[in-house]
Amino acid sequence: MSLFNKTTGATPIFGSSFSGKDVLINKLNKEPIEPVVAYRLVKDQLIDEGNARQNLATFCQTYMEPEAQKLMSETMEKNAIDKSEYPETAELETSCVNILADLWNAPNEKEVMGTSTVGSSEACMLGGMAMKFRWRNLAKKRGLDINAQKPNLVISSGYQVCWEKFCVYWDIEMREVPVDKDHLSINVDKVMDYVDDYTIGVVGILGITYTGKFDDIKALDKLATEYNKTHEHELVIHVDGASGAMFVPFVDPELKWDFRLKNVVSINTSGHKYGLVYPGVGWILWRDKEYLPEELVFKVSYLGGEMPTMAINFSRSASQIIGQYYNFYRFGFNGYKEIHTRTRDSAEAIAKAVEETGYFDILNDGHNIPIVCYKLKDDAKVEWTLYDLADRLLMKGWQVPAYPLPADLDKQVIQRFVCRGDLGENLAEALIEDFKQCIKDLDNARVLYHDKGDVYTYGFTH
Ligand SMILES: *Cc1c(COP(=O)(O)O)cnc(C)c1O
Repeated sequence: MSLFNKTTGATPIFGSSFSGKDVLINKLNKEPIEPVVAYRLVKDQLIDEGNARQNLATFCQTYMEPEAQKLMSETMEKNAIDKSEYPETAELETSCVNILADLWNAPNEKEVMGTSTVGSSEACMLGGMAMKFRWRNLAKKRGLDINAQKPNLVISSGYQVCWEKFCVYWDIEMREVPVDKDHLSINVDKVMDYVDDYTIGVVGILGITYTGKFDDIKALDKLATEYNKTHEHELVIHVDGASGAMFVPFVDPELKWDFRLKNVVSINTSGHKYGLVYPGVGWILWRDKEYLPEELVFKVSYLGGEMPTMAINFSRSASQIIGQYYNFYRFGFNGYKEIHTRTRDSAEAIAKAVEETGYFDILNDGHNIPIVCYKLKDDAKVEWTLYDLADRLLMKGWQVPAYPLPADLDKQVIQRFVCRGDLGENLAEALIEDFKQCIKDLDNARVLYHDKGDVYTYGFTH
């Protein structure tokens, strides 16, 4: 019997019968639950997941302004695909594409095609599909036997898992170029060994997930230019800018990695990484219609006319797109620049403190993007491992992963802090103090949990 008082509506939540039952159900309860009770119990079920703001494993946003949250929660019912019912929402999406085309220096903005996606994963899928379809159309024209071998994609072994999915789903051979030990990014001296007539394209990564390092996209572009001079088959580049493409334009606009490079035909980014939106939004742009084969463009009705759509997903809430637009509109160029610059300052301060302990080699110091990545020095005279350090930091609430590097370097365990816009300098200072204390504790510890030779993936590396 529920103690819930139906007449007054007074609800002793923890006195209700439901508070004594399992919240995780696998079969519907027969009767409904009062909303206040349901809210509290479901919310409490999630209570031990840790404090998202202290989760330095994820690239995804953990803070948005109250006005953004309000706007997004008030627009959750809008369907992003329904351009005729929500034409103004469609206009906001188009504006976002135009803003990105400008940020990424598209030579001819009118020719740019682009769309929002569900994160970079869908965006990469679309970029890969466009390269595959275009390659196939042109290969047929050239008279290449397209069935003689599988088409292939050339990418560094530091790729994010979405590219593996793309290759499996679309039956593409993934050709992994080793990560070069000195730069921890694609080995540009080796890339062309992997290219042939069946190459649909090369992916350059602006912000390798493992380390935060950048592939040298300019060098890739040069290689493609050379190749294209002597080959009928055109070598094109897709830039996976999941993290970097919404960071670099604001803090290092001189770095050429975008549509200023002739062979860069498409770019993706995650709006929910340095675009500063809560999870669920990504973007892809093609420099010109030519690089997005028509077969992949579908028409939907819009304001009595037609509008192209190329996303894989159909119905989903438009609220993330609206959140992206809010951020663009609200922050402007200088707002993003200031937030990102401060985040970088935090990351660099953390990297400096890590280095000053004397125990670590810094692999990424947070300057290019605010990802701090380090390993224990080979001759560090410590009994503990990075896994122990991760455990210790977790006791202070900080979630920091330790994991091995990708193929070829996979004996090397590293640790990474992803600094985001909401990790202000004060919070970074608190983290640094905790970090130092954790090391002191470990140095004095008598029991350690992880064997020195341990190599495994710890927590999330996305
Ligand atoms: C995060 C990431 C992805 C996947 O992006 P989602 O937005 O999480 O789908 C793809 N590539 C790289 C380099 C990434 O860092």
